Amino acid sequence: MTASPILSCRDVTKTFGGLTAVDGVDLDLYEGEIRGLVGPNGSGKSTLINVLTGFLSLDSGSVTVDGTRVERLPAHRVSELGVARTYQIPRPFATLSVIENVQAASYFGNAKQRPTDVREEAARWVAFAGMQDLAHEAPDALTLHQRKLLELTRALATRPRVLFLDEVLTGLNQQELAEGIALVKRIKEVGISIIVVEHIMRVILDLCDHLTVLNFGKVIARGAPRECLEDEDVIAAYLGK
Ligand code: ADP
Ligand code: MG
Repeated sequence: MTASPILSCRDVTKTFGGLTAVDGVDLDLYEGEIRGLVGPNGSGKSTLINVLTGFLSLDSGSVTVDGTRVERLPAHRVSELGVARTYQIPRPFATLSVIENVQAASYFGNAKQRPTDVREEAARWVAFAGMQDLAHEAPDALTLHQRKLLELTRALATRPRVLFLDEVLTGLNQQELAEGIALVKRIKEVGISIIVVEHIMRVILDLCDHLTVLNFGKVIARGAPRECLEDEDVIAAYLGK
């Protein structure tokens, strides 16, 4: 028996005025998998994530999470089905500390939890992400890398089954990058399926089980990462041809 995807979309199209940002995209994410979503700047990666997570409405196509149709649901309903995401630009609550931000996320993930459970859950994810020394800092005091890590930790605290990471590893130094890669692998190990948008080839090859390559909103290649990145159309797209 073939497993069915935990998240799937068919023929998804999203336009902004006259611009087709996402153009007839099919994508499947399987349980326990890290799928890379790559493509040049402006190829529609963030827009596709916004559509799949319910933050933007689509023009046409279907999206399912575990077989449930979600393309007409608002973001908070999609999130209740276990889908979480980070933003390309982090946006924590400025007046809350790191741990309070994560507690808020945990509470939003499950408002029926007792306060002590929320605190435990938040502390667990802060430790998981290696942020325990920063727990009582204000977001403004964090570096960009640490803010991205907080963003990721908040997403984890909602206890997702599917996680979208939009360029969380971009702009890191070598050591931060190595830590970031290790963290994403740990996230996969706890059973969360991941769609990762990333530009750094080393990260893509190290992390991803499978790639989907976009150019001008269309899928131009999919499959094993190394083969995809050696594909003529993909190379031409990256060179702007
Ligand atoms: P990527 O994440 O791959 O860099 P985006 O999804 O951000 O690409 O953008 C895809 C295309 O859609 C780009 O041409 C971008 O300018 C356009 N776009 C994205 N968001 C909007 C928006 N809110 N309004 C109008 N155009 C947008
Ligand atoms: Mg983007």
